[in-house]
Amino acid sequence: MTSLDDLPIRDDLRGQQPYGAPQPRVRVELNVNENPHPVPADVVEDIIARIRVELATINRYPDREFVALRTALAKYLGHGVTPDMVWAANGSNEIIQQTLQAFGGPGRTALGFPPTYSMHSIMAAGSGTRWITAERDADFAITPETAVAAIRAQQPDIVFFCTPNNPTGTPVSLETIAAAYDAFDGIVFVDEAYAEFSPTGSPTALTLLPSRPRLIVSRTMSKAFAFAGARVGYLAADPAVVDALRLVRLPYHMSALTQAAALGALAHADEMLAMVDDIKVQRDRLVVELARLGYTPYPSDANFVLFGNVANPHDVFERLLAKGIIIRDNGIPNHLRVTAGTEAETTEFLEELATLNGTLNGTLN
Ligand SMILES: *Cc1c(COP(=O)(O)O)cnc(C)c1O
Repeated sequence: MTSLDDLPIRDDLRGQQPYGAPQPRVRVELNVNENPHPVPADVVEDIIARIRVELATINRYPDREFVALRTALAKYLGHGVTPDMVWAANGSNEIIQQTLQAFGGPGRTALGFPPTYSMHSIMAAGSGTRWITAERDADFAITPETAVAAIRAQQPDIVFFCTPNNPTGTPVSLETIAAAYDAFDGIVFVDEAYAEFSPTGSPTALTLLPSRPRLIVSRTMSKAFAFAGARVGYLAADPAVVDALRLVRLPYHMSALTQAAALGALAHADEMLAMVDDIKVQRDRLVVELARLGYTPYPSDANFVLFGNVANPHDVFERLLAKGIIIRDNGIPNHLRVTAGTEAETTEFLEELATLNGTLNGTLN
């Protein structure tokens, strides 16, 4: 049988691992930070109606510039963002990919601060961009001084921030982002995939966009909007950045069906986001209850909680899975990550973990 190693693949891809979150269908899925609530039935009906209209002309290519969608996204974002500052793609993963294709590539480097979202480094590898890393401060924070020192030392072409950070839930301050921007001439990419779960009134890097043409702020409909399966991510940046991405995108990369579905969801934004408050309650409950069980949860501004003091993460993961509950082992020693589910799912996870604790010596204490 042929293996990957037998094929004439690029030397820089040899030995790389693909994105690998396991995807078993189990009863309680708390592993990839999805929204546990389905799209409301009336929104489903509106989306179906919109897709039906599109199907009547599906023999034609879609609007390559998806102007209606960019207009709706700009309106949703607010903060003075205009449609010419917005770009969308099939998930923010494709936004990351297009950014690296346009601003990274062979001979260039991208800097990140692990532990962070694995797709930043995986997409760097895929685009031939060398991935370099820098240390965080205590409790996974990144101070302006730390960011600036790393940028001055490593002279990257792109810097990735993730705020709130996946998998730690830690926010990155606007001071850090602004200081990083001023420390070099490259692209600052701020991944705000979980922005809607942050405390109301939290700062967003969208407010830094005026007069910062090398800043990119990315968002997604996968998490708060409960739209992971639709694949819609987007960014806000200077219109010149959008021009750069036009050089590398596939023509017609946003299908007519995706555009219609996203427009339908955005037309009901309030209803789509109605469950966010409920998810935040479950997240905060996880932090309290995990501490009560003897673990060390980190405060989180996202829809998941990272917790430490796990004696054997692999064991805990497997035993929960055997009970039909999947969470995430990000490979951080003695840590696991769990997504905030529905109230019932969160209860089930916590009760099962408490039971395990009794039999397994689950914590390091
Ligand atoms: C989940 C996630 C995304 C979303 O990716 P999509 O391709 O939009 O589904 C982006 N960034 C981070 C940090 C994430 O955790």
